[in-house]
Amino acid sequence: MTTQTHPVDHELIEAAAHIARTRCRGDNHTMAAAARAADGRIVTAVNAYHFTGGPCAELVVIGTAAAQGAYDLDTIVAVGDRDRGVVPPCGRCRQVLFDYFPALKVIVGKGDHLRAVPVADLLPETYVWSDHQLDAE
Ligand SMILES: [Zn+2]
Repeated sequence: MTTQTHPVDHELIEAAAHIARTRCRGDNHTMAAAARAADGRIVTAVNAYHFTGGPCAELVVIGTAAAQGAYDLDTIVAVGDRDRGVVPPCGRCRQVLFDYFPALKVIVGKGDHLRAVPVADLLPETYVWSDHQLDAE
């Protein structure tokens, strides 16, 4: 696996950080995500925490983007409330993001070590769901 890094989209990080600062409230909404759509626009969302498995901000942003007609995302980042900075996606989100957008870049890291990496790099020995849908052909 070669780790390929891309320029970091600081405007995207700031969009997520702004939502984290201004829209995250209490225990229900603790994370913000921002995605750069293929057409250049930025879509933002917050998580909807619930003990039954409420969606992370990355998953909400997928639906929010689709609701706005943006079905192809280029880059995503999540930022935590209370000045936690960039937070890497959880395992479930990594898999969902990979299945939806195999070429997606994810911003991870902290401070001077922020970097944008291909989502597949966050999933060593990646499970490719579409490769195992045997009845689909
Ligand atoms: Zn997640």
